[in-house]
Amino acid sequence: MEWETVIGLEIHTQLATKSKIFSAASTAYGAEPNTQACTVDLGMPGVLPVLNREAVNMAVKFGLAINAEIAPRSVFARKNYFYPDLPKGYQISQFELPVVGPGTLTIELENGETKVIGVTRAHLEEDAGKSLHEDFHGMTGIDLNRAGTPLLEIVSEPDMRSAKEAVAYMKKMHSLVRYLQISDGNMQEGSFRCDANVSVRPKGQQEFGTRTELKNINSFRFVERAIEFEVERQIELIESGGEVRQETRLYDPDRGETRPMRSKEEAMDYRYFPDPDLLPVEVSAEMLERIRGRLPELPDAKKDRFIADYKLSSDDASLLTASHEMADYFEQVVRLSEEPRLSANWIMGELSGFINRENRDISDSPVTAVMLAGMIMRIKDNTISGKIAKQVFEAMWAGEGDADAIIDSRGLKQITDTGAIESVLDEIIAANPKQFEQLKGGKDKLMGFFVGQVMKQTQGKANPAQVNVLMKKKLEA
Ligand code: ADP
Ligand code: MG
Repeated sequence: MEWETVIGLEIHTQLATKSKIFSAASTAYGAEPNTQACTVDLGMPGVLPVLNREAVNMAVKFGLAINAEIAPRSVFARKNYFYPDLPKGYQISQFELPVVGPGTLTIELENGETKVIGVTRAHLEEDAGKSLHEDFHGMTGIDLNRAGTPLLEIVSEPDMRSAKEAVAYMKKMHSLVRYLQISDGNMQEGSFRCDANVSVRPKGQQEFGTRTELKNINSFRFVERAIEFEVERQIELIESGGEVRQETRLYDPDRGETRPMRSKEEAMDYRYFPDPDLLPVEVSAEMLERIRGRLPELPDAKKDRFIADYKLSSDDASLLTASHEMADYFEQVVRLSEEPRLSANWIMGELSGFINRENRDISDSPVTAVMLAGMIMRIKDNTISGKIAKQVFEAMWAGEGDADAIIDSRGLKQITDTGAIESVLDEIIAANPKQFEQLKGGKDKLMGFFVGQVMKQTQGKANPAQVNVLMKKKLEA
């Protein structure tokens, strides 16, 4: 039988506010455990939460960016459960009335087509603390620094049909929250993580199959692997006569499998009710317009503009607008060099290669946009060839200075002096008389041999186009 996969994602993204969603404690990552949790975060009796306006602004900004309805009035609710890292005994979240209503996000598929994924809702909530199991033998450590950190939970419709689509959606969402600067998106630190809901159904069937929920995945690669494993597992289970149980499962990256956590029967009843300590959140028309006016250029619009202004292919424009840092870098190089094509090629090729190899961000690349533009100018004015430029780039990366300094100190300037190239050429012809006669006799392939020899002799510093012209002259003589 042919099966179809159905996926819906719930993404938790940590909002980049300075203080927590209901208290003044800092949200900075990496502090000593329990130094950034105040009485509100600790759930002391008698204290009251005060909503952080900036968290609401950020949620609204997000909603506008996905063309969603923004609720003029939304409500915080208590989600009740017991866990050691949740001192209040409930998490403050939004339930029936979330701040962001239905919206959409467009993703690109591998075949170059686009697909619109529905976003059901996005709501504000507070994060819980962290339970630390590793450093404590036979005990669990509790760090409440994270308790009360603002989260935006973004829930998608079950619109994705493969692990690849789910990854494309997650990446696009990641790029969007970073463009909007509402989250640092740091996945290692848990600022951007997702639960993947997965089910399968016979191809052609309308009704959805029973889903499982894969909890708390914090890398694009793991999402893809976890979904692929889970799809296989469900298909095998059904084909061998079994039934998928609705349950939450945990992905184990070391073993590459998902394992059950709890079933629907064991699922908790959260006894949601509106939090009596908090007023409803009101978003006025005036506030909406103010935030709309401050929206940055979004990824899709930027991509279209790159295609139109710089004559880039859709794929190249996608790559260069994947993050706003990359897009800014590209535009700065183009502004200085006036060479969009060369700029794009160097950024997607050499620069990305070095960045990925060293696991860096483009924003802390040792080769700045100004330096790369400087090098491209030297290619443009024929001071160096593209091949020599690779040496120059490597030297810039290693901290040897800018392109001009390196070309100077390493003597890489292209030889454009016709006389100098001609004398090298004469030497090579004299050393290879047989090949020269064959070339004259029409064996055109040997042209490459002679040009190659000149390039070798000059350590790549001759201008290949010029060598070609001179060689043709020799043949006609
Ligand atoms: P809950 O409130 O239990 O988390 P929701 O109905 O809000 O359940 O759905 C949570 C997520 O699961 C959403 O992203 C939704 O798109 C997805 N989802 C719902 N049904 C299915 C299904 N049959 N297969 C895959 N994903 C599903
Ligand atoms: Mg859920």
